[in-house]
Amino acid sequence: MHFEKLVFIDLETTGANPVSDRITEIGLVEVDAQGQASSWSSLVNPQVSIPSFIQGLTGINNAMVQHAPLFAELAPALFARLEGALFIAHNARFDYGFLRNAFQQAGLSLRAEVLCTVKLSRKLFPLESKHNLDALISRHGLQPGGRHRALADADLLWQFWQHIHANLPAADIDAALATLMQRPSLPSHLPSNALDDVPDTPGVYLFYGERNEPLYVGKSVHLRQRVLSHFNADHKLYKDMRLSQQLHRLEWRKTAGEIGALLLEAQLIKDLQPIHNRMLRRQRQLCAWRLQDDGPPVLSFASEETFGHAERLYGLFSSKRKADEALRELAGQHQLCLVKLGLEGRLQANKPCFARQLQACKGACVGEEAHGLHTARLEAALAGLHVKTWPYAGVVGLIEKSVEETTEIHLVNNWCYLGTATSDETLWALMEQAPARPAFDVDTYKILHKALQRGQLRVHPLPSFAALQQISAQE
Ligand SMILES: [Zn+2]
Repeated sequence: MHFEKLVFIDLETTGANPVSDRITEIGLVEVDAQGQASSWSSLVNPQVSIPSFIQGLTGINNAMVQHAPLFAELAPALFARLEGALFIAHNARFDYGFLRNAFQQAGLSLRAEVLCTVKLSRKLFPLESKHNLDALISRHGLQPGGRHRALADADLLWQFWQHIHANLPAADIDAALATLMQRPSLPSHLPSNALDDVPDTPGVYLFYGERNEPLYVGKSVHLRQRVLSHFNADHKLYKDMRLSQQLHRLEWRKTAGEIGALLLEAQLIKDLQPIHNRMLRRQRQLCAWRLQDDGPPVLSFASEETFGHAERLYGLFSSKRKADEALRELAGQHQLCLVKLGLEGRLQANKPCFARQLQACKGACVGEEAHGLHTARLEAALAGLHVKTWPYAGVVGLIEKSVEETTEIHLVNNWCYLGTATSDETLWALMEQAPARPAFDVDTYKILHKALQRGQLRVHPLPSFAALQQISAQE
């Protein structure tokens, strides 16, 4: 296996907790693609006292670190050394965890590929029971330059690496590395650099097949991680395997945040109908019960113009059958009258409904329960299914900001997503294309209803993009 850069690294710390304990020494051996090694180490001032048993173990005492640089001072140069390198350590989770935390506090986000030499040793020498550094020293005849100091221990790992490469078949080592690192295996039809530029921001990604047919649309707040997760070597999902085989081209669209990604994903799935996306529920059938003052509830379909504007709407149901079932079930639970609900004809004029004869209806059909009371009880029973009507006069802009402070404005009317504007021009273009009474959209309804409830979005009636940006800047 080929690596651009290896960094064998070891840390000394004030204790074992990566959050509350501090680094006191960093030692590393850096090996470039040509196999040239260079080493670097530094004591670190932990700004806390080192417990005496740790002082005894490492030989690093308070006096030694008192004038050493702070981690924050070392961070930029150390970060540059680790960038693009395979991070190799003994119990790598420990060292990596400590460094990630320390870097985070210095405002840097460490993201390296990690290899643990304990795991590597266990994989290569499965019959051995001990894999600590002392065991490795005696088993392989490594030369310790001084134990429990960072650079000396890092150098032992470099020796171990050289030792296995000199004594074991390369294929065995590669196989062990492949399982340990679970490198994503790139789909065979994608160019090798196809994933290089995928950003780790919120957004939507699109997979295309050989004849440029859309295969799959997905979204994530961590685009890069999500895309790579489709190709993880240990992914046994049949769907991902098939996707990987068919994938010829990859596209992505960055969004400011999660809501934009959700809206765009839903729209692209509807427009492109990718083969591997579960076919979205057909919206033709989508319906809800609308209550009226007189007469039984009326089934209202999402394709109707007024849907989403109507008050007293309860649903949503994917078909008339589902709507009937739901209402019947509620009637049973609440002793409502199926005749009054329009779900059952009368057996005979002026005779009680069938359920009444079993005392399962409170008698609205024969006037023993007042019509108003029956309606009120029905409304209460349906409360959990209330469809929030479009509460605005027309098109509104929902403002979402990215961490980099870019602003996106999602245009929505009647729970229908019209597009996202990132400038005055795109805003007006979208406004021009927007239908006057767009059809209710259930995906948008679900996405936005939740976001608005959580207070994740700010709503503005639409003046201009610039005005909106000003408003958003003042918030
Ligand atoms: Zn009845």
